[in-house]
Amino acid sequence: MNKQTLTLSVLGIGALALVPVVMHNPYYLHLAETILIYAILLFGLDIVVGYTGQVSLGHAGLFGIGSYTTGVLVFKLGMSVFVAIPCSIAVTAVFGALLALPALRVTGPYLAMVTLAFGTIIQILINEMSFLTEGPMGIKLTKPVIFGQKLGEVGFFYLVAVMLVLSLIVVHRILRSHYGRAFQALRDSPIASDCMGVSVYKYKVIAFVISAALAGLAGSLYAYSEEYISPNTYNFELTIMFLLAVIMGGRKTRTGSLLGALIVVMLPSLLADIELFRKIATVAALIAVVAGGLAISKKRKTVGELIVPVGATVAMALFSYKLENITDWRLTIFGLMTLFVVYYLQDGIVGFVNSLLGKGQQHLIVNAESAETNAGNAIVNASDTRVGVLLTGRKILMQFGGLKALNQVDLQINKGTVHGLIGPNGSGKSTMMNVLTGIYQPTDGVVEFAGKVISGSTPSAIALGGVARTFQNVQLFGEMTATENILVGLHSTFRSNVGDAMLHTPRYLREEQQARARAASILQFVGLADLANEEARNLPYGKQRLLEIGRALGLNPQLLLLDEPAAGLTAPDIKDLIAIIRKIREHGITIILIEHHMDVVMSICDTVTVLDFGQKIAEGKPAAVQADPKVIEAYLGGSVADATEVAAA
Ligand code: ADP
Ligand code: MG
Repeated sequence: MNKQTLTLSVLGIGALALVPVVMHNPYYLHLAETILIYAILLFGLDIVVGYTGQVSLGHAGLFGIGSYTTGVLVFKLGMSVFVAIPCSIAVTAVFGALLALPALRVTGPYLAMVTLAFGTIIQILINEMSFLTEGPMGIKLTKPVIFGQKLGEVGFFYLVAVMLVLSLIVVHRILRSHYGRAFQALRDSPIASDCMGVSVYKYKVIAFVISAALAGLAGSLYAYSEEYISPNTYNFELTIMFLLAVIMGGRKTRTGSLLGALIVVMLPSLLADIELFRKIATVAALIAVVAGGLAISKKRKTVGELIVPVGATVAMALFSYKLENITDWRLTIFGLMTLFVVYYLQDGIVGFVNSLLGKGQQHLIVNAESAETNAGNAIVNASDTRVGVLLTGRKILMQFGGLKALNQVDLQINKGTVHGLIGPNGSGKSTMMNVLTGIYQPTDGVVEFAGKVISGSTPSAIALGGVARTFQNVQLFGEMTATENILVGLHSTFRSNVGDAMLHTPRYLREEQQARARAASILQFVGLADLANEEARNLPYGKQRLLEIGRALGLNPQLLLLDEPAAGLTAPDIKDLIAIIRKIREHGITIILIEHHMDVVMSICDTVTVLDFGQKIAEGKPAAVQADPKVIEAYLGGSVADATEVAAA
């Protein structure tokens, strides 16, 4: 923990401790308590929405399960708070898993529908299962009793505050660990995650279950806080409010969750006072008109021209009409605020403030000098035997509708070699890579790797078996730094589970430290040591390709597949690339190289296979292949530029 974090933590905890001292009005103290409870839930929701990029409309339902578990345990069985809170967390986590396992097979709007259905069903069940939940009547309970003492409003506030701090620490630690990196990676590039052995499905489910556990904790505290729960609370509107809170506050930050909670809790009480709301909204609309005017004068016409008339109309309307029942407008006002945030502040309020301050997202910052880096440790030797066959493809057929992208192709890759795969554009080279790495299931044929059939396995299983790859269209984890990208590649070196990451056990700390040292070595090996803390999306194109190779090396592969690694590289970059490929081969790693630069192919490949229209038309030593009339014909038939490239090489 650095000094700044420490200071902020002390200040934060101090501020929390002071709240009850400053706020004597129990109504305000209760509001503050509600904010903290919502924030706990939002920490969890942000893991799903902000980090893994999935939409959940089921969190009000999960919140309800947490509340009702506590309600039932206390009301029916007279259980103590020490039983009720852990049980609420566990039961909600189980429901989260029951929802996630089938639901996370789908994404986008389908996922939204499934989670929405879940939330609705939970609300109906709570309503109907009167024998357990007392139905629409609701359940009354009292503040918890701890060591024979019934907690008052202040005591309970402190309990909630402690829970908030604990949740914050736990969530922060998980997100800083290999789990958090997996969550972010699968959002930035699901395909690359799978190919790094980070199963997208598995980590989405884990994220969802952690998120549900936090919703359970929040629900339990909410039940005690309100001292009365009824089914109506856990409705669709609440789910939407939770989502809006995360989006408005700012995804991928805990401050954003706190701020979001503050807004959604305070806004309704603000709206309850119609006159006050009217005044504030009128002033806000007038400010918008002025800002719009400024925008026009600064040549940002389109934005300004939209804001000025809308702002003026709203201001006039608010000024001249008395509002009757503003609470009915709550969702509309939330909706408008969200539209504004989504259009103008895409990273939420916290993201906006950070950009004003010139700060980006928080990242793991590695200090180049302190790490004992050694490019020599970057690559782990592949198995020693360098003779024999590593991979065999038999009669591989890959059909897309009527198109045979691969037509009965046989492929044999010998251990320790660099095997070139060339052919005109659209001849099926990338398709072959996708079949070998499990992204496509071949229509027919078998792929054997190290003596085992791998066709039919998932991409992450194939990756963990020792096949790493890069992509023709670079697939980095854009919002993560170069170091973090490599650390995702090193994901499979971790044995620690979520518990280890939460508790910072010696095993976890050791693994994390080893992974960081290895990441630094790999970065040095691919020549990116001085860009270690740079976000991948900000790297120059050539460096991005090198980073992809580094990330692939993290898997300790037996076989490395490179799909056009030299595309878009400058001449000096290509030289570095050739040196890097040679060094990788020296470690016994077998390489399949797709490349259009014939000089690269000719200088480093031991064997070359040529594809044309999905069929193998030639195979052999580079020089022999280059002289093959069928190959020259294929390239001439394809494009003249390619043909001259072959001839020139
Ligand atoms: P290249 O040799 O240039 O890497 P590809 O393997 O990318 O060629 O493509 C081979 C052929 O297969 C092309 O005609 C391409 O349009 C087609 N193809 C590749 N992937 C798909 C897909 N997912 N769906 C339909 N057609 C595809
Ligand atoms: Mg291709």
